[in-house]
Amino acid sequence: MQKNVSERIEADVAIVGAGPAGTAAAARLGQLGVKNVVLVDRADFPRDKTCGSGLSPKAIQALKELGIWDDVAALAYPINGIRIVTPGGKESFQSAGTEAQAMVCHRRVLDHALLKRAQERGTRFIPHFNATQTIEENGRTAGFIDREGREVRAKFTFVAGGSHCRVGVQPRPTRKVIQAIMGWWDGVPFTPHHVEMIFDDMVVPYYGWLFPEGGERVNIGITYEDDNHEKNARELFQRFLDKHYAVRLRGATQVGGWKGHPVMYSYDISDLTAPGKFIIGESGLMTHPATAEGIYQGMRSGMMAAEAAADILAFRKSEAEAMGEYEARCKRTFQASFLAGRAFRRALKTPMLDWMVGLGNHKLVKSTTARLMAAI
Ligand SMILES: Cc1cc2nc3c(=O)[nH]c(=O)nc-3n(C[C@H](O)[C@H](O)[C@H](O)COP(=O)(O)OP(=O)(O)OC[C@H]3O[C@@H](n4cnc5c(N)ncnc54)[C@H](O)[C@@H]3O)c2cc1C
Repeated sequence: MQKNVSERIEADVAIVGAGPAGTAAAARLGQLGVKNVVLVDRADFPRDKTCGSGLSPKAIQALKELGIWDDVAALAYPINGIRIVTPGGKESFQSAGTEAQAMVCHRRVLDHALLKRAQERGTRFIPHFNATQTIEENGRTAGFIDREGREVRAKFTFVAGGSHCRVGVQPRPTRKVIQAIMGWWDGVPFTPHHVEMIFDDMVVPYYGWLFPEGGERVNIGITYEDDNHEKNARELFQRFLDKHYAVRLRGATQVGGWKGHPVMYSYDISDLTAPGKFIIGESGLMTHPATAEGIYQGMRSGMMAAEAAADILAFRKSEAEAMGEYEARCKRTFQASFLAGRAFRRALKTPMLDWMVGLGNHKLVKSTTARLMAAI
Protein backbone atom coordinates (compact mmCIF):
# COMPACT_ATOMS: atom_id res chain seq x y z
CA MET A 1 0.00 0.00 0.00
CA GLN A 2 1.29 3.48 -0.91
CA LYS A 3 2.29 5.44 2.21
CA ASN A 4 0.89 8.98 2.54
CA VAL A 5 3.45 11.56 1.52
CA SER A 6 3.59 14.34 4.10
CA GLU A 7 6.13 16.46 2.22
CA ARG A 8 7.79 16.16 -1.19
CA ILE A 9 11.08 17.88 -2.01
CA GLU A 10 12.56 17.88 -5.52
CA ALA A 11 16.31 18.09 -6.16
CA ASP A 12 18.89 17.54 -8.85
CA VAL A 13 21.08 15.69 -6.36
CA ALA A 14 19.89 14.34 -3.00
CA ILE A 15 22.43 13.08 -0.47
CA VAL A 16 21.80 10.84 2.57
CA GLY A 17 24.40 11.49 5.27
CA ALA A 18 26.33 14.65 6.15
CA GLY A 19 29.67 13.12 7.16
CA PRO A 20 32.84 14.00 5.22
CA ALA A 21 31.63 12.07 2.14
CA GLY A 22 28.20 13.72 1.89
CA THR A 23 29.33 17.24 2.79
CA ALA A 24 32.37 17.14 0.48
CA ALA A 25 30.13 15.94 -2.35
CA ALA A 26 27.67 18.78 -1.67
CA ALA A 27 30.46 21.37 -1.43
CA ARG A 28 32.00 20.14 -4.72
CA LEU A 29 28.60 20.19 -6.47
CA GLY A 30 28.33 23.83 -5.35
CA GLN A 31 31.78 24.58 -6.77
CA LEU A 32 30.69 23.01 -10.07
CA GLY A 33 27.55 25.14 -10.27
CA VAL A 34 24.96 22.44 -9.50
CA LYS A 35 22.31 24.48 -7.72
CA ASN A 36 19.53 22.23 -6.49
CA VAL A 37 21.27 19.98 -3.94
CA VAL A 38 19.51 18.57 -0.87
CA LEU A 39 21.51 16.96 1.95
CA VAL A 40 19.79 15.15 4.82
CA ASP A 41 21.06 13.68 8.08
CA ARG A 42 19.30 11.97 10.95
CA ALA A 43 21.31 14.25 13.29
CA ASP A 44 21.45 18.02 13.59
CA PHE A 45 24.83 19.69 13.48
CA PRO A 46 27.26 20.16 15.08
CA ARG A 47 27.19 16.48 16.06
CA ASP A 48 29.77 14.03 17.38
CA LYS A 49 31.17 11.07 15.46
CA THR A 50 33.32 8.41 17.10
CA CYS A 51 36.64 8.98 15.34
CA GLY A 52 40.33 9.65 16.00
CA SER A 53 39.83 12.78 13.85
CA GLY A 54 43.26 12.48 12.23
CA LEU A 55 43.64 14.26 8.88
CA SER A 56 46.34 12.84 6.60
CA PRO A 57 48.22 14.95 4.01
CA LYS A 58 45.79 13.63 1.36
CA ALA A 59 42.82 14.77 3.45
CA ILE A 60 44.42 18.20 3.79
CA GLN A 61 44.84 18.34 -0.01
CA ALA A 62 41.14 17.49 -0.49
CA LEU A 63 40.15 20.25 1.97
CA LYS A 64 42.32 22.69 0.02
CA GLU A 65 40.62 21.74 -3.24
CA LEU A 66 37.23 22.26 -1.57
CA GLY A 67 38.37 25.75 -0.53
CA ILE A 68 37.88 25.06 3.16
CA TRP A 69 41.40 24.36 4.35
CA ASP A 70 42.03 27.80 5.94
CA ASP A 71 38.87 27.48 8.07
CA VAL A 72 39.78 23.96 9.21
CA ALA A 73 43.47 24.73 9.82
CA ALA A 74 42.46 27.52 12.20
CA LEU A 75 40.45 25.02 14.28
CA ALA A 76 42.73 21.95 14.09
CA TYR A 77 45.83 20.80 15.96
CA PRO A 78 48.96 20.47 13.79
CA ILE A 79 50.97 17.24 13.80
CA ASN A 80 54.61 17.08 12.74
CA GLY A 81 55.87 13.90 14.33
CA ILE A 82 55.04 10.38 15.37
CA ARG A 83 55.99 8.03 18.21
CA ILE A 84 55.87 4.37 17.16
CA VAL A 85 55.98 1.45 19.58
CA THR A 86 56.56 -1.96 17.96
CA PRO A 87 55.11 -5.32 19.02
CA GLY A 88 58.56 -6.14 20.45
CA GLY A 89 58.46 -2.99 22.60
CA LYS A 90 60.96 -0.93 20.58
CA GLU A 91 60.23 2.76 20.40
CA SER A 92 60.92 5.34 17.71
CA PHE A 93 60.25 9.08 17.39
CA GLN A 94 60.11 10.47 13.84
CA SER A 95 59.88 14.21 13.51
CA ALA A 96 59.29 16.17 10.34
CA GLY A 97 60.52 19.52 11.63
CA THR A 98 58.20 22.35 12.53
CA GLU A 99 55.91 22.24 9.50
CA ALA A 100 52.59 20.42 10.01
CA GLN A 101 52.38 17.16 8.04
CA ALA A 102 48.94 16.19 9.31
CA MET A 103 46.20 17.59 11.54
CA VAL A 104 43.78 16.43 14.18
CA CYS A 105 40.42 18.19 13.88
CA HIS A 106 37.61 17.02 16.14
CA ARG A 107 34.82 15.62 14.00
CA ARG A 108 32.23 17.84 15.64
CA VAL A 109 34.19 20.77 14.23
CA LEU A 110 35.33 19.32 10.90
CA ASP A 111 31.97 17.97 9.74
CA HIS A 112 30.19 21.16 10.76
CA ALA A 113 32.73 23.29 8.88
CA LEU A 114 32.24 21.17 5.75
CA LEU A 115 28.47 21.37 6.09
CA LYS A 116 28.53 25.15 6.48
CA ARG A 117 30.64 25.50 3.34
CA ALA A 118 28.22 23.28 1.39
CA GLN A 119 25.30 25.42 2.62
CA GLU A 120 27.10 28.63 1.64
CA ARG A 121 27.35 27.16 -1.87
CA GLY A 122 23.60 26.58 -2.04
CA THR A 123 22.99 23.13 -0.52
CA ARG A 124 19.70 22.83 1.37
CA PHE A 125 20.33 20.86 4.59
CA ILE A 126 17.53 18.96 6.34
CA PRO A 127 18.45 17.71 9.85
CA HIS A 128 16.48 15.04 11.77
CA PHE A 129 15.71 13.26 8.51
CA ASN A 130 16.20 9.55 9.16
CA ALA A 131 16.01 7.97 5.71
CA THR A 132 14.47 4.52 5.78
CA GLN A 133 14.68 3.49 2.13
CA THR A 134 15.44 4.69 -1.34
CA ILE A 135 12.69 5.31 -3.89
CA GLU A 136 13.09 2.80 -6.74
CA GLU A 137 11.13 3.56 -9.92
CA ASN A 138 11.43 2.17 -13.43
CA GLY A 139 14.77 0.54 -12.64
CA ARG A 140 16.25 3.76 -11.17
CA THR A 141 16.91 5.16 -7.74
CA ALA A 142 14.88 8.37 -7.57
CA GLY A 143 15.53 9.66 -4.02
CA PHE A 144 14.59 8.45 -0.54
CA ILE A 145 11.93 8.66 2.12
CA ASP A 146 11.79 8.81 5.91
CA ARG A 147 9.43 7.24 8.45
CA GLU A 148 7.27 10.38 8.65
CA GLY A 149 6.44 10.10 4.98
CA ARG A 150 8.76 12.85 3.80
CA GLU A 151 10.10 12.25 0.30
CA VAL A 152 13.19 13.69 -1.33
CA ARG A 153 13.03 13.02 -5.07
CA ALA A 154 16.10 13.59 -7.19
CA LYS A 155 17.69 12.97 -10.57
CA PHE A 156 20.68 11.55 -8.68
CA THR A 157 20.89 10.05 -5.20
CA PHE A 158 24.17 9.93 -3.27
CA VAL A 159 24.37 7.32 -0.52
CA ALA A 160 26.74 8.60 2.21
CA GLY A 161 25.35 7.11 5.42
CA GLY A 162 28.62 5.62 6.70
CA SER A 163 29.16 2.22 8.29
CA HIS A 164 25.76 1.51 9.88
CA CYS A 165 23.39 2.86 7.25
CA ARG A 166 21.69 0.22 5.07
CA VAL A 167 19.71 2.68 2.93
CA GLY A 168 20.60 2.27 -0.73
CA VAL A 169 23.34 -0.33 -0.18
CA GLN A 170 23.28 -4.09 -0.65
CA PRO A 171 25.34 -6.33 1.66
CA ARG A 172 28.61 -7.10 -0.13
CA PRO A 173 30.36 -10.45 0.42
CA THR A 174 33.78 -8.76 0.37
CA ARG A 175 32.89 -6.45 3.28
CA LYS A 176 35.32 -6.66 6.22
CA VAL A 177 35.12 -5.06 9.63
CA ILE A 178 37.71 -3.40 11.85
CA GLN A 179 36.53 -3.01 15.46
CA ALA A 180 37.43 0.12 17.41
CA ILE A 181 36.91 1.59 20.86
CA MET A 182 38.18 4.91 22.16
CA GLY A 183 37.95 7.58 24.83
CA TRP A 184 38.97 11.20 25.52
CA TRP A 185 41.11 12.61 28.35
CA ASP A 186 42.37 16.00 29.51
CA GLY A 187 45.75 16.38 31.15
CA VAL A 188 47.63 13.39 29.67
CA PRO A 189 51.31 14.33 29.16
CA PHE A 190 52.34 13.99 25.49
CA THR A 191 55.03 15.27 23.15
CA PRO A 192 53.43 18.35 21.55
CA HIS A 193 52.38 17.92 17.92
CA HIS A 194 53.15 14.18 17.91
CA VAL A 195 50.70 11.34 17.41
CA GLU A 196 51.43 7.91 18.88
CA MET A 197 50.85 4.54 17.22
CA ILE A 198 51.26 1.47 19.39
CA PHE A 199 51.57 -1.84 17.55
CA ASP A 200 50.98 -4.30 20.37
CA ASP A 201 50.43 -8.04 19.99
CA MET A 202 47.05 -7.71 21.68
CA VAL A 203 45.72 -5.70 18.69
CA VAL A 204 48.07 -6.62 15.80
CA PRO A 205 47.56 -6.42 12.79
CA TYR A 206 45.98 -3.20 14.01
CA TYR A 207 47.19 -0.67 16.53
CA GLY A 208 46.39 1.58 19.42
CA TRP A 209 46.80 5.33 19.19
CA LEU A 210 47.01 8.60 21.04
CA PHE A 211 45.99 11.62 18.98
CA PRO A 212 46.23 15.10 20.56
CA GLU A 213 43.19 17.26 19.70
CA GLY A 214 44.73 20.37 21.23
CA GLY A 215 47.21 21.41 23.91
CA GLU A 216 45.13 19.74 26.65
CA ARG A 217 42.84 17.04 25.19
CA VAL A 218 43.84 13.71 23.64
CA ASN A 219 41.88 10.80 22.27
CA ILE A 220 43.20 7.30 22.83
CA GLY A 221 41.84 4.19 21.19
CA ILE A 222 42.46 0.77 19.72
CA THR A 223 41.52 -0.88 16.45
CA TYR A 224 41.45 -4.66 16.30
CA GLU A 225 40.04 -7.65 14.45
CA ASP A 226 37.25 -9.77 15.89
CA ASP A 227 35.72 -11.69 13.01
CA ASN A 228 34.35 -14.39 15.32
CA HIS A 229 32.93 -11.93 17.90
CA GLU A 230 34.99 -13.43 20.71
CA LYS A 231 36.61 -10.34 22.17
CA ASN A 232 35.35 -8.04 24.88
CA ALA A 233 36.11 -4.51 23.63
CA ARG A 234 36.13 -2.81 27.03
CA GLU A 235 38.29 -5.50 28.63
CA LEU A 236 40.77 -5.38 25.72
CA PHE A 237 40.93 -1.56 25.83
CA GLN A 238 41.46 -1.57 29.59
CA ARG A 239 44.36 -4.04 29.21
CA PHE A 240 45.84 -1.83 26.50
CA LEU A 241 45.53 1.30 28.66
CA ASP A 242 47.01 -0.48 31.68
CA LYS A 243 49.99 -1.62 29.66
CA HIS A 244 50.75 1.55 27.69
CA TYR A 245 49.16 4.52 29.44
CA ALA A 246 48.65 3.68 33.15
CA VAL A 247 51.32 6.11 34.34
CA ARG A 248 50.32 8.98 32.07
CA LEU A 249 46.60 8.59 32.79
CA ARG A 250 47.14 8.81 36.55
CA GLY A 251 46.71 12.60 36.77
CA ALA A 252 44.34 12.87 33.80
CA THR A 253 40.57 13.45 33.69
CA GLN A 254 38.43 11.28 31.45
CA VAL A 255 35.98 13.24 29.29
CA GLY A 256 32.76 11.32 28.61
CA GLY A 257 32.53 7.56 28.26
CA TRP A 258 34.35 5.15 25.97
CA LYS A 259 32.81 4.72 22.56
CA GLY A 260 32.93 1.70 20.27
CA HIS A 261 32.28 1.90 16.53
CA PRO A 262 33.16 -0.41 13.62
CA VAL A 263 34.97 0.60 10.45
CA MET A 264 33.89 -1.16 7.24
CA TYR A 265 36.26 -1.76 4.36
CA SER A 266 36.88 -3.91 1.31
CA TYR A 267 39.87 -4.50 -0.96
CA ASP A 268 37.39 -4.77 -3.80
CA ILE A 269 36.39 -1.29 -4.96
CA SER A 270 33.24 -1.90 -6.99
CA ASP A 271 29.42 -1.78 -6.96
CA LEU A 272 29.49 1.97 -6.36
CA THR A 273 26.83 2.94 -8.88
CA ALA A 274 23.44 1.91 -10.20
CA PRO A 275 21.04 3.88 -12.43
CA GLY A 276 20.38 7.17 -10.61
CA LYS A 277 22.66 6.33 -7.66
CA PHE A 278 26.24 6.92 -6.48
CA ILE A 279 27.60 5.27 -3.32
CA ILE A 280 30.37 7.25 -1.61
CA GLY A 281 32.56 7.10 1.50
CA GLU A 282 32.27 4.33 4.05
CA SER A 283 28.89 3.27 2.62
CA GLY A 284 31.00 2.16 -0.34
CA LEU A 285 33.46 0.39 2.00
CA MET A 286 36.18 2.89 1.07
CA THR A 287 38.27 3.05 4.23
CA HIS A 288 41.90 2.10 4.61
CA PRO A 289 42.38 -1.57 5.57
CA ALA A 290 45.46 -0.97 7.74
CA THR A 291 44.97 2.48 9.28
CA ALA A 292 41.14 2.65 9.32
CA GLU A 293 41.43 6.12 7.76
CA GLY A 294 38.16 7.08 6.12
CA ILE A 295 37.85 10.87 6.19
CA TYR A 296 40.06 11.36 3.14
CA GLN A 297 38.49 8.47 1.21
CA GLY A 298 35.02 9.81 2.07
CA MET A 299 35.80 13.33 0.87
CA ARG A 300 37.66 12.23 -2.27
CA SER A 301 35.00 9.73 -3.38
CA GLY A 302 32.31 12.34 -2.67
CA MET A 303 34.15 14.89 -4.79
CA MET A 304 34.60 12.43 -7.66
CA ALA A 305 30.93 11.43 -7.57
CA ALA A 306 29.99 15.12 -7.61
CA GLU A 307 32.14 15.65 -10.70
CA ALA A 308 30.48 12.70 -12.44
CA ALA A 309 26.95 13.88 -11.58
CA ALA A 310 27.75 17.44 -12.71
CA ASP A 311 28.95 16.06 -16.06
CA ILE A 312 25.71 14.14 -16.57
CA LEU A 313 23.48 17.05 -15.52
CA ALA A 314 25.30 19.37 -17.94
CA PHE A 315 24.94 16.77 -20.76
CA ARG A 316 28.74 16.53 -21.10
CA LYS A 317 28.65 12.77 -20.53
CA SER A 318 26.11 9.98 -20.58
CA GLU A 319 25.15 8.46 -17.25
CA ALA A 320 26.79 5.14 -18.15
CA GLU A 321 30.03 6.86 -19.16
CA ALA A 322 30.23 9.14 -16.09
CA MET A 323 29.36 6.35 -13.66
CA GLY A 324 31.93 4.04 -15.27
CA GLU A 325 34.53 6.78 -14.91
CA TYR A 326 33.58 7.35 -11.24
CA GLU A 327 34.12 3.68 -10.40
CA ALA A 328 37.40 3.60 -12.36
CA ARG A 329 38.65 6.76 -10.61
CA CYS A 330 37.85 5.33 -7.17
CA LYS A 331 39.82 2.20 -8.09
CA ARG A 332 42.77 4.21 -9.40
CA THR A 333 42.77 6.51 -6.40
CA PHE A 334 42.46 3.97 -3.56
CA GLN A 335 43.36 0.47 -4.78
CA ALA A 336 47.17 0.70 -4.55
CA SER A 337 47.13 2.12 -1.03
CA PHE A 338 44.55 -0.47 0.11
CA LEU A 339 46.77 -3.27 -1.23
CA ALA A 340 49.82 -1.67 0.40
CA GLY A 341 47.76 -1.69 3.60
CA ARG A 342 47.16 -5.42 3.21
CA ALA A 343 50.92 -5.98 2.77
CA PHE A 344 51.62 -3.81 5.83
CA ARG A 345 49.13 -5.80 7.95
CA ARG A 346 50.79 -9.05 6.89
CA ALA A 347 54.23 -7.62 7.66
CA LEU A 348 53.05 -6.64 11.14
CA LYS A 349 52.61 -10.32 11.91
CA THR A 350 56.39 -10.73 11.35
CA PRO A 351 59.22 -8.95 13.22
CA MET A 352 59.53 -6.41 10.35
CA LEU A 353 58.54 -3.32 12.34
CA ASP A 354 60.85 -4.28 15.23
CA TRP A 355 63.64 -4.77 12.75
CA MET A 356 63.07 -1.40 11.06
CA VAL A 357 62.74 0.54 14.28
CA GLY A 358 65.74 -1.40 15.68
CA LEU A 359 67.86 -0.05 12.83
CA GLY A 360 66.72 3.35 13.99
CA ASN A 361 68.34 6.23 12.20
CA HIS A 362 69.84 4.30 9.31
CA LYS A 363 69.18 6.54 6.29
CA LEU A 364 67.91 3.79 3.99
CA VAL A 365 65.57 2.46 6.66
CA LYS A 366 64.23 5.96 7.36
CA SER A 367 63.46 6.61 3.70
CA THR A 368 61.95 3.13 3.26
CA THR A 369 59.75 3.67 6.33
CA ALA A 370 58.70 7.09 5.01
CA ARG A 371 57.86 5.59 1.59
CA LEU A 372 55.92 2.75 3.20
CA MET A 373 53.94 5.17 5.40
CA ALA A 374 53.24 7.41 2.39
CA ALA A 375 52.01 4.40 0.40
CA ILE A 376 49.49 3.42 3.04
C1 LIG B 1 37.13 4.74 16.43
C2 LIG B 1 37.36 5.26 15.03
C3 LIG B 1 38.46 6.07 14.77
C4 LIG B 1 38.67 6.57 13.49
N1 LIG B 1 39.72 7.42 13.28
C5 LIG B 1 39.90 7.98 12.06
C6 LIG B 1 40.92 8.95 11.85
O1 LIG B 1 41.66 9.34 12.78
N2 LIG B 1 41.06 9.47 10.61
C7 LIG B 1 40.26 9.09 9.57
O2 LIG B 1 40.45 9.58 8.46
N3 LIG B 1 39.25 8.20 9.75
C8 LIG B 1 39.04 7.64 10.96
N4 LIG B 1 38.01 6.78 11.16
C9 LIG B 1 37.11 6.45 10.03
C10 LIG B 1 36.13 7.58 9.78
O3 LIG B 1 35.51 7.98 10.99
C11 LIG B 1 35.03 7.16 8.79
O4 LIG B 1 35.55 6.29 7.81
C12 LIG B 1 34.43 8.39 8.10
O5 LIG B 1 33.70 9.15 9.04
C13 LIG B 1 33.50 7.97 6.94
O6 LIG B 1 32.86 9.13 6.44
P1 LIG B 1 31.42 9.04 5.77
O7 LIG B 1 31.03 10.42 5.41
O8 LIG B 1 31.43 7.98 4.74
O9 LIG B 1 30.45 8.49 6.93
P2 LIG B 1 30.13 9.10 8.38
O10 LIG B 1 31.19 10.02 8.81
O11 LIG B 1 29.82 7.93 9.24
O12 LIG B 1 28.83 9.97 8.16
C14 LIG B 1 27.60 9.35 7.88
C15 LIG B 1 26.47 10.32 8.22
O13 LIG B 1 25.26 9.75 7.75
C16 LIG B 1 24.25 9.92 8.72
N5 LIG B 1 23.27 8.85 8.52
C17 LIG B 1 23.47 7.52 8.67
N6 LIG B 1 22.36 6.84 8.37
C18 LIG B 1 21.42 7.76 8.04
C19 LIG B 1 20.06 7.68 7.64
N7 LIG B 1 19.43 6.51 7.53
N8 LIG B 1 19.39 8.82 7.37
C20 LIG B 1 20.01 10.01 7.51
N9 LIG B 1 21.30 10.16 7.88
C21 LIG B 1 22.00 9.05 8.14
C22 LIG B 1 24.98 9.86 10.05
O14 LIG B 1 24.26 10.55 11.06
C23 LIG B 1 26.30 10.56 9.70
O15 LIG B 1 26.25 11.95 9.96
C24 LIG B 1 37.78 6.26 12.42
C25 LIG B 1 36.65 5.45 12.70
C26 LIG B 1 36.44 4.96 13.98
C27 LIG B 1 35.24 4.12 14.25
